[in-house]
Amino acid sequence: MRETTLEYAKKLDENDALNSYRGEFYMQPGTIYMDGNSLGLLSKRAEQSLLTTLDSWKKYGIDGWTQGEHPWFYFSEALSKMCAPLVGASEEEVIITGSTTTNLHQLIASFYHPKGKRTKILADELNFPSDLYAIRSQLALYGYEATDHMKLVESRDGHTLDEADIIQAMTDDVALIVLPGVLYRSGQILNMKVLTEAAHEKGILICFDLCHSIGSVQHELDEWGVDFAFWCNYKHLNGGPGSTGGIYVNHQHLGQNPGLAGWFGSDKEKQFDLAAQMTPAPDAGAYQIGTPNILSAAPLFGSLEMFEEAGIDAIRDKSLKLTDYMMYLIEEELCDYSFTIANPREEERRGGHVFLVHEEAARICKALKEHHVIPDFRSPNGIRLAPVALYNTFEDVWNTVQILKEIMKEGTYKRFENKRDVIA
Ligand SMILES: *Cc1c(COP(=O)(O)O)cnc(C)c1O
Repeated sequence: MRETTLEYAKKLDENDALNSYRGEFYMQPGTIYMDGNSLGLLSKRAEQSLLTTLDSWKKYGIDGWTQGEHPWFYFSEALSKMCAPLVGASEEEVIITGSTTTNLHQLIASFYHPKGKRTKILADELNFPSDLYAIRSQLALYGYEATDHMKLVESRDGHTLDEADIIQAMTDDVALIVLPGVLYRSGQILNMKVLTEAAHEKGILICFDLCHSIGSVQHELDEWGVDFAFWCNYKHLNGGPGSTGGIYVNHQHLGQNPGLAGWFGSDKEKQFDLAAQMTPAPDAGAYQIGTPNILSAAPLFGSLEMFEEAGIDAIRDKSLKLTDYMMYLIEEELCDYSFTIANPREEERRGGHVFLVHEEAARICKALKEHHVIPDFRSPNGIRLAPVALYNTFEDVWNTVQILKEIMKEGTYKRFENKRDVIA
């Protein structure tokens, strides 16, 4: 039987197989961090791999490209190998490069080939705006207006998408589909396998934005036959602010010229021939453009090592337990305060965070911060709480709900304006 007591939370922590990892992260004493789905925390291993990289620069200068623990010329490829299991791909299909948004630009530029009647890009109205901006601007390069070439699947409840609605929108004028793996607000997991099968039946290519799913839930992109994917590494993967992103291209699509070419997309044996004609890499490395952002990628060596070690299955298992426990406490303790849990409840549809809706969300978040709980406000009325498997405890979850209860009971949130700050 579950209990709402602190003792029960502590017992869950004692029985947690991943509880040793918390000590590897920089946790601010007295602060409960519930925002690891926006920016993951720094681990000692990530710090160390960054320092090691700085040391290579210090020691080797230009020769750091070929010397040191992780020679920079092969940096992206070495990280891709570590990252590939997290998306269920082979190392040739993955490259650590760019940012989420530039990677989407690269994929559209490479694989969106409007022909005849098939000219549209299908996305959804709940997707992260940057993705929609990228799609719109790519369409504009063809002289297409988004109003008639970008098709957006609508949400029925404002929080989630119905796979049936998405499949229905896969008409024969659609060339490419871009959808999130996990929705950034409600944390809904889309059924990527079913959507990919449906897209392929209709002869449409499909691409997923994995920003909120990578490092949090398992992926089998190869097995599902997903065509392309892209993501950032600074959320659940703890690569640091602005950390280098990632691209996956299914092996069936490898070997073509990239839409946006640059010398780091070259075959590594030929790159330094410095020929006027580019020979693209035979693998996903071809989608790199210029010199990699070495210092922004360096923390990933330390961070990804922890994912390799702990295993994504154990991480997902604990994440589900944490969010399940959080929802239980919210229902038991906050039932008098008009919160709605707006994320899907079922395990196969629930990502790594809990999404609460409340009219006073903006100022409740400010009050939480004043009480040293770091939530994530999403305009106009959403509170995201992400208990992260590698560094949050069941006790963190218990404390968060207790503090939330106190804020509501005392009405201390009323001292703040119900308006978002510049960054929310
Ligand atoms: C975080 C996030 C982004 C951010 O894109 P950047 O190019 O890294 O700034 C894009 N899409 C989604 C779904 C995200 O969650």
